[in-house]
Amino acid sequence: MTTLSGRAITACRACGGALSIPFCDLGVQPVANSYVAVEESGKPDPVFPLNVRVCERCKLAQLDHVVDAGAIFSDYAYLSSVSASWLAHAKAYCESMIQRLALDSGSFVVEVASNDGYLLKNFVAAGIPCLGIEPAANVAAIAVAAGVPTEARFFGRETAAALLRERRRSPDLIVANNVLAHVPDVEDFVAGLALLAGDKGVVTIEAPLLVELVKNVQFDTIYHEHYAYWSLLAAERVLGRHGLAIFDVERLTTHGGSLRLFARRTDPSLRPSQTLEAIRKEEAEAGLDQFAFYDGFEPRVRAVLDAFRSYLKESRAAGRRVTAYGAAAKGNTFLNAVGATADDITLVADANPLKQGRLLPGSRIPIVSPDDLLAAKPDDIVILPWNIAPEIMRNLSKGWKGRFVTAIPSLRIHEGPQ
Ligand SMILES: [Zn+2]
Repeated sequence: MTTLSGRAITACRACGGALSIPFCDLGVQPVANSYVAVEESGKPDPVFPLNVRVCERCKLAQLDHVVDAGAIFSDYAYLSSVSASWLAHAKAYCESMIQRLALDSGSFVVEVASNDGYLLKNFVAAGIPCLGIEPAANVAAIAVAAGVPTEARFFGRETAAALLRERRRSPDLIVANNVLAHVPDVEDFVAGLALLAGDKGVVTIEAPLLVELVKNVQFDTIYHEHYAYWSLLAAERVLGRHGLAIFDVERLTTHGGSLRLFARRTDPSLRPSQTLEAIRKEEAEAGLDQFAFYDGFEPRVRAVLDAFRSYLKESRAAGRRVTAYGAAAKGNTFLNAVGATADDITLVADANPLKQGRLLPGSRIPIVSPDDLLAAKPDDIVILPWNIAPEIMRNLSKGWKGRFVTAIPSLRIHEGPQ
């Protein structure tokens, strides 16, 4: 078992400003993806503060405590390829980028945090040269075995410089989708993107949007692996300091509301797209530059937690057997913020075989296969990953008739056939 270590962050990881604005304090929690082997269950989980504060200068929302990244990522149990809707999202992205940037066999695409190659395999299939950079060695090996060129390393200035030396060119496209939140050293990472992109390379960044997190009370997307929670406002400030300008934005429904940012080296001829202007205006109207926007969030989180605790208490009193689906990080944050245990929720199912047979960190709820969950004939199934809830409910309702429960943005019990 890896020993985790953590340290407090006293200044903004991007600009060095003071983290003086409170946002969401979820107490102390175990690291969300540190699934517990049954034979280790006698040992307590190491816990670390899980508290998001906001930089008064650049307004980047971020954890005020960092857990050592090497320890988090070295045994990374998450494989992207398990969700069908996520695979479809990646495929559609690749097709649109091939068209938009007229990519062909003479082009070069780099993806940062390329996971098991689920996205790049679309470029491989289209005959477009590509390279994945993936920090988790075991996950990178899976990508290589599947025919996706991948190097196991962290991305930053040093890796960018090495790639430029080895390849003697900048990529036409750098994919940094859904990685920004996972980067402990934002300065080094964004500097690496700017260096690698050169004069002409386009960088795309997908990031869940803070304004949506707040609107839909998605506090369960806060966990130790997510060091920062991005707004367009903060992204433009941080990228801008490294000479990268955002010139277009697409709205996405992934992760409950994300943006796909298009950036490249700042150039006076770049004109902001209409969508970019519209989202800038929306964020300004929502008050993202104001203290009150951040300070008003926590009471809404408390209300969601209280409603779910009442539901568990009533279910217990009524003798209902409550289970859950989705042993993902966001479920762990939620269950540990609630204070739920295996007495409240007897089993949690997950399709990922690497997680089955282990226990959730903190709550210590046993993880089983979806078939084993249905065989246990539960009364209720709490769907923890709300972002793919319709897909999960469709699949499970084929073999089971009971109640689905979702807790975010507010408690909902789905009665009857789905
Ligand atoms: Zn800052």
